[in-house]
Amino acid sequence: MGAVGMGLVDCHCHLSASDFDSDLDDVLEKAKKANVMALVAVAEHSGEFEKIMQLSERYSGFILPCLGVHPVQELSPEDQRSVTLKDLDLALPIIEKYKDQLLAIGEIGLDFSPRFANTDKQKEEQRQVLITQVQLAKRLNLPLNVHSRSAGRPTISLLQEQEAETCETVAFNFHLLRNRFTCARTRKTGTE
Ligand SMILES: [Zn+2]
Repeated sequence: MGAVGMGLVDCHCHLSASDFDSDLDDVLEKAKKANVMALVAVAEHSGEFEKIMQLSERYSGFILPCLGVHPVQELSPEDQRSVTLKDLDLALPIIEKYKDQLLAIGEIGLDFSPRFANTDKQKEEQRQVLITQVQLAKRLNLPLNVHSRSAGRPTISLLQEQEAETCETVAFNFHLLRNRFTCARTRKTGTE
């Protein structure tokens, strides 16, 4: 591998959020001036997948796309709920469609915050959604971009059971994971 240019990579941001609709160009310009070389844009639900892919095409090589189904589905600020397998059904065909353009599968993980998942059924459904996406990532040879909240040990156990360490894992929001997995993959960034 040759010399790598100096710069920062934001390994997890939600650029498809409507908060950025009015000033995304400004935000990206400021990021460039602050020596940010690339931004990894993650998804929460299938409804934003196309937007993320469009952004990654418009800012090719600067916005790097991840698609995945988050354990908490925020359909609006007032409507947040634990993920279901039905959410995954909607997402999987779109992930397959764009598989060759993705940097990683994410944002995926477990969120056992009581306000989202307070029943065993909800937690189990989150696990099933995560397992399916870990297996998908392994099949596609893509790394993971992982979320965990109030579910540290269950997340680590699940990733280990699924042998997710064979994927290089980008862990977010979670100190224990950061110590256990590598977050060093810069696939398709053109900076290697
Ligand atoms: Zn996130």
